[in-house]
Amino acid sequence: SPSIVWFRDDLRLADNPALRAAIDRDEPIIALYLLDEESPDMRPLGGAARWWLHHSLVSLGERIAERGGQLILRRGAAADVVPQLVTDTGAGAVFWNRRYGGPGRTVDADLKASLRDDGVEVASFAASVLFEPWTVTTGSGTHFSVFTPFWKACQALPSPRAPLPEPRELAGPGRRVASDDLDDWALLPTRPDWAGGLRETWEPGEPAARARLREFLRTDLDDYSRGRDEPARDVTSRLSPRLRWGEISPYTVWHETVETGGGAKFLSEVGWREFAWHTLYHFPDLATKNLRPEFDAFPWPRLEPTHLEAWQRGETGVALVDAGMKELWHSGIMHNRVRMVTASFLIKNLMIDWRHGEEWFWDCLVDADEASNPFSWQWVAGSGADAAPYFRVFNPELQREKFDKHDEYVRRWAPEHLDGGAPEPIVDLKASRNAALDAYEKVKRTP
Ligand code: FAD
Repeated sequence: SPSIVWFRDDLRLADNPALRAAIDRDEPIIALYLLDEESPDMRPLGGAARWWLHHSLVSLGERIAERGGQLILRRGAAADVVPQLVTDTGAGAVFWNRRYGGPGRTVDADLKASLRDDGVEVASFAASVLFEPWTVTTGSGTHFSVFTPFWKACQALPSPRAPLPEPRELAGPGRRVASDDLDDWALLPTRPDWAGGLRETWEPGEPAARARLREFLRTDLDDYSRGRDEPARDVTSRLSPRLRWGEISPYTVWHETVETGGGAKFLSEVGWREFAWHTLYHFPDLATKNLRPEFDAFPWPRLEPTHLEAWQRGETGVALVDAGMKELWHSGIMHNRVRMVTASFLIKNLMIDWRHGEEWFWDCLVDADEASNPFSWQWVAGSGADAAPYFRVFNPELQREKFDKHDEYVRRWAPEHLDGGAPEPIVDLKASRNAALDAYEKVKRTP
């Protein structure tokens, strides 16, 4: 009886333990990708994410076909689609790699129980994080809320396992199994087609992800610690969408980096990704609720839609903010330093609730994920885990002087600020900063 491998955010053949389990079972393999927008509380993908997913599925489908298999596409609620596929194909086993967000976990646990009741073998595996959330605890058995001791505790655990090799052959189901046509999912934008910048910037898929890791380790890792804060210097890995979609495994990233004999700073950034996922696991409402409830008392003023729009379009009149927002819109990505500055500006100078910013990033980022995006927004807002204190308000002009000294980044993305064509700033940086700090007094007074 065939084995179903249910691909989710692990669109790769190498280091894929669910796929490996199916190969070891030595029966025909049915590779499934399921677009599930129907299970309860599932967060719909943003526009840039849908674009990435389309192309990554094309690549995965080709790679599976080259090895003799077939990627089956289905759409619907997992609780309906997976059991139906088991029935249609007579599958005897279902394998997947675990996910850690609340709604996904509920779906998976229910499905596991019901398939097992029907006599189907089910197994799930660790593949998208190096350390699973329940394995990293403080001395008193609770989870960490501060990064440094968290990462120390991770490093004291046994090293992450070695990555699994990529299979050369995949035995398909033997007969054709019905599959949706990817184009019918309409993941790509049509009118208007805003994806030109994404096409210029990215090549989704596992081979490009592996190539980028190798190139990064060879040419950029040495400069990483020094250059990672300067947005015009392209020395960071740009692996975030690849990790987001699981085109490359964190185990591969870990081991290939360790083999260089360096990379501790880089790996600690990968550690922040782990920390974000652990935080989401323990706090499934991360995208909607303040992790620190005293922030519920924050007196957000009435939303000023023209301010939100100016921020989204990169028309705030503040150079580094505008450059970052334009980079995001054009290419689906934004440098980490500039993410912090644009987020701080929205929350603390425009006094707009972090959730509005989180949603915009969710829609525009190719790397938007359930954990890192809300985690980072709450980090900037001061309401999150190990967060920057609220009163640390980035000054976008000083940040520009420090990290974009020669205006290279601003010239690339918002040259109007250098030729005098930019609008006047929509807020006074100093006055708005003081107003934000006054508002924060309310939070401080909340017991
Ligand atoms: P590198 O510096 O090369 O780091 C290597 C990897 O480590 C990254 O690919 C990423 O997977 C991980 N990483 C690095 N920094 C962080 C961090 N601070 N938090 C979590 N993981 C990190 N990252 C996302 O992957 N998805 C998001 O949706 C996301 N939203 C963010 C929103 C805001 C407001 C901020 C301030 C940061 C956000 N980040 C997010 C974190 C960070 O900006 C990106 O991971 C990073 O810019 C990706 O570039 P890189 O791959 O070149 O990173």
